[in-house]
Amino acid sequence: MISIKGVNKWYGSFHVLKDIDLEVAQGEVVVILGPSGSGKSTLCRTINRLEPINNGAISIDGQALPEESGPLSQLRSEVGMVFQQFNLFAHMTVLENVMFAPIQVRKQKPAAARARAIELLDRVGVGAQKDKLPSQLSGGQQQRVAIARALAMDPKVMLFDEPTSSLDPEMIKEVLDVIVELTKGGMTMVVVTHEMGFAQTAADRVVFMAEGEIVEVSTPEEFFNNCQTERAAEFLSKVL
Ligand code: ATP
Ligand code: MG
Repeated sequence: MISIKGVNKWYGSFHVLKDIDLEVAQGEVVVILGPSGSGKSTLCRTINRLEPINNGAISIDGQALPEESGPLSQLRSEVGMVFQQFNLFAHMTVLENVMFAPIQVRKQKPAAARARAIELLDRVGVGAQKDKLPSQLSGGQQQRVAIARALAMDPKVMLFDEPTSSLDPEMIKEVLDVIVELTKGGMTMVVVTHEMGFAQTAADRVVFMAEGEIVEVSTPEEFFNNCQTERAAEFLSKVL
């Protein structure tokens, strides 16, 4: 579903992604772990072309990432992204946030977009908040709205970049529970997280990055019980 081949990226003279190869199968959940600054967010952002790459190739569902902006908005609509900061539209209600892109980008009829938005808000447990503004919600509720908003575009792939990092501890679980539900529904997902419990239970594969490289790719069992490199062992000694 996601194919990343020989990708390199530099910020000026800084080599931030080094020969990245990664295939993510349909329905697979890949968790990316690694120290701060290792390039996890940059890699995530290249997948929906928020960041250009210098060489290599990325394709989604067999389609190469386009260069021009026209097809790009089509591609972005097929890759849902949820960030650490929720980035909801502050002046729109929760319901309007979720309806906006399906109407503007997908040209859905408002009634259909509304029905689908209500269904998704119920699914992530914030249906009762639909007429509030984002500022009237808790962080965990806002992040669940952001997930519903991404799902409203029926993406082929969901990318999460530290979706719980800015949440208070008691709200982390309610957001992780929603993400775990999605993994059960067969969604193809790439999740950058520091939640090791989530990685252990929800990942099909763990990708460990350090200094712009993919250092290990393994099952969670292998990675957490029997990692293969010094760098991974050092990382695990700090986070477990
Ligand atoms: P964290 O766990 O802290 O989120 P990360 O693994 O997501 O880290 P990235 O945000 O991908 O790391 O950053 C990788 C490296 O690239 C870092 O050294 C960072 O300082 C650098 N970097 C990120 N964005 C830019 C930019 N726009 N210009 C220059 N350097 C950048
Ligand atoms: Mg990051």
